[in-house]
Amino acid sequence: MLKHARVSDPEVYKLTLEELTRQEHNIEMIASESTAALEVMELTGSIWTNKTLEGYPGARFQAGSHVADKLETLANQRAMDLYGADHVNLQPYSGSTANYAVYSAVLKPGDRVLGMRLDQGGHLTHGSPANFLSKVYQFDFYGVNQETETIDYEALEKKAKEFQPKLIIEGGSSYPRLIDYERIGAIAKSVGAFSMVDMAHVSGLIAAKVIPSPVPHTDFVSSSTTKTFCGPRSGMVLCKKEFAKQLDRGVFPGALGSMHLHTMAAKAWCFKQMAGAEYKVAMTQVVKNAKKLAEELAKYGFRIVSGGTDNHLILADLRPKGITGKVFQDALDSVGITVNKNQIPFDPEKPTIASGVRIGLTSVTQRGLKEKEIEAIAKIMDKVSSAPEDEANLKACREQAEKLIANFPLYPAGSFDD
Ligand SMILES: *Cc1c(COP(=O)(O)O)cnc(C)c1O
Repeated sequence: MLKHARVSDPEVYKLTLEELTRQEHNIEMIASESTAALEVMELTGSIWTNKTLEGYPGARFQAGSHVADKLETLANQRAMDLYGADHVNLQPYSGSTANYAVYSAVLKPGDRVLGMRLDQGGHLTHGSPANFLSKVYQFDFYGVNQETETIDYEALEKKAKEFQPKLIIEGGSSYPRLIDYERIGAIAKSVGAFSMVDMAHVSGLIAAKVIPSPVPHTDFVSSSTTKTFCGPRSGMVLCKKEFAKQLDRGVFPGALGSMHLHTMAAKAWCFKQMAGAEYKVAMTQVVKNAKKLAEELAKYGFRIVSGGTDNHLILADLRPKGITGKVFQDALDSVGITVNKNQIPFDPEKPTIASGVRIGLTSVTQRGLKEKEIEAIAKIMDKVSSAPEDEANLKACREQAEKLIANFPLYPAGSFDD
């Protein structure tokens, strides 16, 4: 691996090797993570990095674009076919910048935006006071019903009527349930607002048709191309035909500079893979594994927020176990299981402590883990939770976790041998 950097920069080479070892030996269950294919590594490390290009195929600001034009056109066509979308823009650098590009396309400073509360599943780029956009636009929020812990659509509609937003945002980072895109799309129309779904977490499940698509019901659909997409660190926006020009201007020159052709090449490769049967099987198993883990953890006395999951992630409330998200995250990390602490809806704890953890099943499913292994992981997690500060307990758990994951290589043997 890295046969040139190994020689010219042993320090960075060693850190990269150390991180590979960590990933190999860990049970990786951060909901926003997945493992990129070797082809994604090849293409993102390719000569496409050398080319600077602004504009769109046929209307570039730099010469030497005729090959890149073919690449972007191919990638766009594959994306539109895969998602059944009228138009796509693949130039955003990530999920965050994909959102910024949509805002730049449809909003003016001071405009009103309605998004999902961050502490109930939304995202930092949907109006968090910590994000600079909260100073540019006026954000207000909807949330979940306290009993069902699913989106309160009546309250959303009421708020939309009162607040009269220019844009309604759907989708989030820690929402384990399906979203009624049709209903929110109709609410947006009824108040004269644009609708945007940020499908960053679930774009892979949607591509594989394992869960319903927002595309028919929504003006703009933004995404990361990591997470369940399993691709390079990049982004994209899909939209309806009538907004194509507006979106393209919003992306460039509205929000971004020159495009990243190395990730464009990797995304093109991904779209082709994602249309195939193998990807569908994998995504189907991701959801099966998530449901299985929710069931098993519930048996051990964890409270599963909203009572289960429809996608790749679950939120577990740890209060019945008498521990906090922070304590559990740290204890699990020490045994080689990686999750993140996460606030649950109406959480009495602050975000740095949190009453819950968010657990995602994409990475472990890609490695080949199925229901039987998920049962074993739930058992280890329960054992960790029973004595999260007991060294002997943690040591026993670490050995079990290591043994389990050792049978499921991260990449095929020899992938990084030169
Ligand atoms: C992860 C995420 C983003 C940000 O994506 P990056 O690719 O990390 O920039 C935006 N929106 C949601 C809902 C996300 O989950």
